[in-house]
Amino acid sequence: MKDFFEESIQKLKKLKKNGGMEDLVLKDEISRGIKNLEFKTFFQPKVYLEEEKVGFEALVRWFHPEKGVISPNIFIPLAEESYLINKITEIVLNDSLNAAEILKTDISINLSAISFENNYFLSSLQKKIDDSRNKNYITFELTERIAVTNFEDTLDKINNFKKSGVSFSIDDFGSGYSSLSYIEKLPINELKIDKSFIDNINTSLVNPIIIELITKIGRVAGFKTVCEGVETEEQIEKLISLGSDSFQGYYFGKPEPLLRVVEKYEKGEYH
Ligand code: C2E
Ligand code: CA
Ligand code: CA
Ligand code: CA
Repeated sequence: MKDFFEESIQKLKKLKKNGGMEDLVLKDEISRGIKNLEFKTFFQPKVYLEEEKVGFEALVRWFHPEKGVISPNIFIPLAEESYLINKITEIVLNDSLNAAEILKTDISINLSAISFENNYFLSSLQKKIDDSRNKNYITFELTERIAVTNFEDTLDKINNFKKSGVSFSIDDFGSGYSSLSYIEKLPINELKIDKSFIDNINTSLVNPIIIELITKIGRVAGFKTVCEGVETEEQIEKLISLGSDSFQGYYFGKPEPLLRVVEKYEKGEYH
C-alpha cells in the first residue's frame, strides 16, 4: 500500500506541471478520509531524565479502509499542498488537548511551515488553545525552514503564542539549513537533534562533538536538547556521556494510541 502512494506521488510530481488529474484524486481521497474520521493521533514518549518527566509527541496516522495504515511521510507532503494540512492539524490539536487533559503532561504537535505562514489559521489555533485549560501543556515543533523566509514575522508569531502558554521546539535540527544564529535569536524552549546524528553516534567522529556542543549551548541559552530516534542502550550510554539528558525513540517507546499510552504512563513504564 505504501508503494501505491509512493508511485502516485512520483506520478503526481511528473504530472504537476501539466496540472495532472491524479493530484486531485489523491487529495480527494485525503479529504474523504478526514470526513470519514480515518486520521488518528498516536503519541510517542519524550523522556527528560533530569526533570524526571515524560512528555509526548503527537504523530498522525491514516487508517485507510483498503490500504491499511499509511505513514505521515506519505500523505503530509500532499496535504501541505492544500488546506488539508490545516484540517489534519486541527484533528491533532483536538486529540492533543484531550491527551493533555488525561495525562497532565506536555504534548508536542508538529506544525508545518506552510501552516505557520497562514495568519488566519494560526488565530484559529490560538483561539482553541486559549479556550483550553490545558494550554500550558502544548508545544509546537517547527522545522528550521520557518525562520528562513521572514525572521521578524516568525519571531512575532512565536512570542504571541508564548503569551498563550505554548512552548516551541525546533524539529529535525541539522537535517536542513541549520543556522546557530536563529537558535540564538529565537525564544525556543527545545531543540531536537535529528535522528541522522544519533544513528551512527557510536562510530562517527564528528557527530558526538556536534551533539555535545549543541547540548552545552542549550544549557547556556536555556533550551532543552532532545536526541531523536534513540534505539539502543549503547546510544543512550554514549549520549549521556556527552551531556544529553532528553531522549525520544523506540528504545523508550513507539508511537501508540492514547489508551495504550495512558496505561503505560500510569504504570511508569516509560521511566
Ligand atoms: P518527526 O516529526 O521527525 O517525527 C519523528 C518520526 O520518527 C516519527 O515518524 C516517529 O515514529 C519516528 N521515530 C521515532 N523514534 C524512532 C526510532 O527510534 N527509530 C525510528 N526508525 N523512527 C523513530 P512518523 O510518525 O512516521 O512521522 C514522520 C513525520 O511525519 C514526522 O517526523 C513529521 O515530520 C510528520 N508528521 C507526523 N505527524 C504529523 C502531524 O500531525 N503534522 C505534521 N505537520 N507533520 C506530521
Ligand atoms: Ca516532530
Ligand atoms: Ca523530528
Ligand atoms: Ca523527521
